[in-house]
Amino acid sequence: MILPSPSLTSPSVNKNFFSAPLPVRSFKPSIIACASCNHGSQSSTLESLCKEGKVDEAFQIIDQMDRQGLAAKPVNLVLLLQACAEARSLLSVRKAHQCIERSSCRGSRPFIYKLAEVYCKLGSMEDARKVFDEMPVKPVVKRREAYVKVRKLHERMRAAGYVPDTRYVLHDIDEKEKERALMYHSERLAIAHGLINTPPGTTLRIMKNLRICGDCHNAIKIMSKVVEREIIVRDNKRFHHFRDGVCSCGDYW
Ligand SMILES: [Zn+2]
Ligand SMILES: [Zn+2]
Repeated sequence: MILPSPSLTSPSVNKNFFSAPLPVRSFKPSIIACASCNHGSQSSTLESLCKEGKVDEAFQIIDQMDRQGLAAKPVNLVLLLQACAEARSLLSVRKAHQCIERSSCRGSRPFIYKLAEVYCKLGSMEDARKVFDEMPVKPVVKRREAYVKVRKLHERMRAAGYVPDTRYVLHDIDEKEKERALMYHSERLAIAHGLINTPPGTTLRIMKNLRICGDCHNAIKIMSKVVEREIIVRDNKRFHHFRDGVCSCGDYW
């Protein structure tokens, strides 16, 4: 996910977020896993527990593995995160997040994106933002590259039928300037960043604090077709899934 909002780099972030202790939970002693279990069988137990949605038991296995100095496999951490998301428990997601932070997956982009997506789905934009603020690897693309990319992209979009709708620009400036202003709307720059940073075909996920404007909505539909990417934009109202020139919202949002 690429985050265009300037508020995401807000200095008001609690840097101790990940190290803050989570409330202690009392786990039922119903767990079947002995200290002599080898890593392989713990991993497969963990995998099945996650798949069955038994989140508490899964965390208990992870605690056991921690005590034995064993690391959960990345694939199991993904399953754990999914299980927590399906249980719709923000507390569990935060706990899974801490497990990820302690693992070798810390800072890995797929995990960062997945975490942010899960937090958004559970309605915690604040947690999603913190994921990015804590991101150890900052996006490497220079600002200028994104601007160049966005300009080239708009040439292809125009060829594909995009006509800027300048009613969405409120400033009192001439038409050409209005078109330019639209072209640099934050979500389009974010998509340009994403296009530069990710392999062809990768789905791009963008978060926006404000409602997406009508011209961006139209532009991103055309972009999705031109660049052959699925683009998911989460604005303050809903998710828009753009694919092959259309949006899942059917243009009503
Ligand atoms: Zn816009
Ligand atoms: Zn839409």
